[in-house]
Amino acid sequence: MKIINPATEDVLADVELADLAETDRVVERARKAFPAWREVSPGDRARLLRRFADLVDRHGDELASLELANAGHLIGNARWEAGNVRDVLHFYAGAPERNHGKQIPVPGGVDITFAEPLGVVGVIVPWNFPMVIMTWGAAPALAAGNTVIVKPAEWTPLTALRLAELALEAGLPEGVLQVLPGAGEVAGARLVRHPGVNKIVFTGSTEVGKLIAGRAAEQVKRVTLELGGKSANVVFADADLERAAATAPSAVFDNSGQDCCARSRILVERPVFDEFLDRLITTVGGLTVGDPRDPGTDMGPLISAGHRERVASFVTGVPRFQGTCPAGKGFWYPPTVLTHDSLDERAFTEEIFGPVVSVVPFDGEAEAVQIANDTAYGLSGSIWTRDVGRALRMARAIEAGNLSVNSHSSVRYWTPFGGFKQSGLGRELGPDALAAFTETKNVFIAH
Ligand code: NAD
Repeated sequence: MKIINPATEDVLADVELADLAETDRVVERARKAFPAWREVSPGDRARLLRRFADLVDRHGDELASLELANAGHLIGNARWEAGNVRDVLHFYAGAPERNHGKQIPVPGGVDITFAEPLGVVGVIVPWNFPMVIMTWGAAPALAAGNTVIVKPAEWTPLTALRLAELALEAGLPEGVLQVLPGAGEVAGARLVRHPGVNKIVFTGSTEVGKLIAGRAAEQVKRVTLELGGKSANVVFADADLERAAATAPSAVFDNSGQDCCARSRILVERPVFDEFLDRLITTVGGLTVGDPRDPGTDMGPLISAGHRERVASFVTGVPRFQGTCPAGKGFWYPPTVLTHDSLDERAFTEEIFGPVVSVVPFDGEAEAVQIANDTAYGLSGSIWTRDVGRALRMARAIEAGNLSVNSHSSVRYWTPFGGFKQSGLGRELGPDALAAFTETKNVFIAH
């Protein structure tokens, strides 16, 4: 498959996609590597992961440039992402030595538990944050003693392939971390169906997530699912409006809106609706869309021409405001602000995954909660108010896995991340993720 730079449409590389036979060989290699990897002493496993993290640090600029070229990420964001990969590896490098079982008092003997690795873990990755999402799955899985196969998205395999090389250079044994570029319905589907794969971590669309959950259920295969979102940014009249309006665009237009946590539905309390909308439009009008290598750029391209067509299909009427973007080569789409006559409009209910934001008014807390929760999704959300009690009431009432008050921050590698409802199953990051890669075994020894 030809791998394209979405900002220039230049061909970056030609990557061979795995067929079923190659996928099976990769699974065999991972199975063969498992018994020795699980027996590596905790200290040695920790050291290998730290060495891997150090190599990622040393190659940070190179990884950032690759992600910029392949996924169209802004240079500042891509550097942050390379740093996140390093940090996540360091965080889970601390896990092997702390992954203890328990000793439980019982009559007639001794009862102990073991946190056993699962075996082979398949990590299926989307194109929006390729190296980061790969690492969120792979790092805790490796730390817990599993071997890992990463299947990157068809369009964005380059950083994953480079990370696999760095892992080998760090000394991870052959077969412990493999990257398998391939089509979703071929290599991805085979990993899900292969009896030699014990767990699937899938990040991607809710539609494919449901398919994978169904197929995995046939073998009661473990799954972690990180799926789509349509998150609310709720702005009350008592909020710091200036800050709320200044930050709302980045909460949806970062990564050109191709972010599962995008706060793409802005709900504004009616008395300040017009003022907020004016401020928002002023900020959006000042955004620069263009070359991701330029540190002054606010928004880069979309991933592909096909995706741009899909995004555009949501903008049917006249937008409330639309910014500008480069003409010519590259998959550009301007930042777009919509208002709605009806909350049933497709652009308000479906995940667009592009730089399109909806702004609607509400009256009071109860209506804000009702609108925010009137969706099948539940990934993230923001609450803007100066009233602490209200902030807590809203945070408890909104059905979502990652909420922020007077902020849009969703991701810290040491805190749990994941979705309610159809946004996912299970949690990544933080200490919680480790449990997702081990099976508790209970052993009773009579005396
Ligand atoms: P996608 O579902 O089309 O593909 C994701 C991955 O699954 C790709 O690697 C693809 O090749 C593979 N795949 C496709 N069909 C498959 C099948 N039948 N069996 C196995 N694998 C298959 O998603 P996408 O378009 O790459 O990514 C965008 C979606 O990802 C959005 O919905 C976004 O919200 C979601 N996402 C969620 C999170 C999260 O953490 N919740 C993070 C990032 C992206």
